[in-house]
Amino acid sequence: MREILINITYILSACLFIFGIKMLGKAETAKKGNLISSASMLIAVVATLFDRQLLNCDFAMWALIFGGISLGAIIGWAMAKYVKMTSMPEMVALLNGFGGLASLLVGWADFQFNGANPAVNPYFYKTATILAILIGGLTFTGSIYAWGKLSGKISGKAKTFAGQKAVNATIAALCLISSVAFIVLGNYDAAYACMIAGVVLSLALGFAAVMPIGGGDMPVVISLLNSFSGLAASAAGFVIQNNVLIVAGCLVGASGVILSVIMCKAMNRTLYNVLFSGFGATSAKSGEVKGEMKAISTDDAYYVLEAAQNVVFIPGYGMAVAQAQHAVKELATILEDKGAEVRFAIHPVAGRMPGHMNVLLAEADVPYEQLCEMQDVNPIMENVDVAIVIGANDVVNPAAAQDKSSPIYGMPIIEAYKAKSVFCLKRGQGAGFSGLVNSLFFAENTRMIYGDAKGTITDLVSKFKQA
Ligand code: NDP
Repeated sequence: MREILINITYILSACLFIFGIKMLGKAETAKKGNLISSASMLIAVVATLFDRQLLNCDFAMWALIFGGISLGAIIGWAMAKYVKMTSMPEMVALLNGFGGLASLLVGWADFQFNGANPAVNPYFYKTATILAILIGGLTFTGSIYAWGKLSGKISGKAKTFAGQKAVNATIAALCLISSVAFIVLGNYDAAYACMIAGVVLSLALGFAAVMPIGGGDMPVVISLLNSFSGLAASAAGFVIQNNVLIVAGCLVGASGVILSVIMCKAMNRTLYNVLFSGFGATSAKSGEVKGEMKAISTDDAYYVLEAAQNVVFIPGYGMAVAQAQHAVKELATILEDKGAEVRFAIHPVAGRMPGHMNVLLAEADVPYEQLCEMQDVNPIMENVDVAIVIGANDVVNPAAAQDKSSPIYGMPIIEAYKAKSVFCLKRGQGAGFSGLVNSLFFAENTRMIYGDAKGTITDLVSKFKQA
């Protein structure tokens, strides 16, 4: 009876997970969706605590369980409370990594204690165990490496060397051989040795696979590793016969893959190209352009904006760093009140996480009707009087549309360069995430407004107010 009740609770949790994820699709319901998903995870954890094996545990074991839950809850709460919005991808990378490590440890520990006499078919059990270990191991080191790259602790560029693909293929082949040996060997000690080889090889594979990926491709890698952490959890669910872990792992695995494919489409790349092309190894000098960057003062920019009838704001990572969204909204309202048509052009990978710009602009109460997707705004860009690029760089780099030798050639961009005038707000000569030079900044119709984006926009707002 207890088993049936636990499984009914698991089904309820799985349904709530799905409702929660569905609600994340819209900004108005996203907060509630997050709460529902968290609550369903809590329900699943509580139901697991009623497991027969756990109820037979002694006091020391319960102290360990509750100690672990409390410590994890405190660390998770503190991370979520204090993480900066711009550091979210790093945090997601860390969470993926530790999810992978947890699955590896579950697989290892279960084989250590139950491997000699598994409760289910030994081939099935060992396949699930080695999958949890291999996927978990490569997710752990791959994610930690990606975290290092994203947080700037190590260079974010792709690192390539001659014969790298052969080295990676050899490690992957050794992983496969040790896995097959682990599954077919009947002798426990021999299988255990193969499992340890699998642990070491999968950890090495995680590093090796992420090493040649860099630049603007890192978000796709994070999303793919997120998917892997789900698959590893699902495999661990099969190992310990826990239905909710299987379902939750599959949900994470599927959503991670879908997000990776969406991001690849937004960059006009295939997943294969992202993982194996070594994009981002290119030196920052690649795509060097002739000409000079021409600066303009906020006084002069004010006069141009005063006369503009059609204005498009193109926010990027720099707007998030400067936290300029409220000032931008204020400027947009002033321009609208003066009769200009105002839009916000949103690139799918602007900022450092999917939907980053939508979240910031929603926080500043920018109406949804003013948010335009790339494919809707590009056709009207030639009629735009002023395109104001706020801390965006890669997502407006014309090399993607014009320079066949550029590593980002073919990636869809917001075609700011087609506007009659372009104002680019940035602090200096800093490159974008991909490290490439941006020819937009050197174009005849572009003027640079140097300084922190919030300061610049606030300055422009005060000029309108004074007038
Ligand atoms: P970029 O990273 O290309 O460029 C940001 C620009 O903002 C820099 O050139 C920088 O120049 C400027 N900047 C930084 N701080 C400020 C500030 N306080 N005030 C004004 N300007 C500032 O940003 P984009 O949004 O154009 O492109 C996003 C990039 O990030 C893409 O390559 C994408 O692939 C990648 N990425 C996207 C993720 C996602 O899911 N959205 C996740 C991870 C990476 P300066 O230093 O001179 O001020």
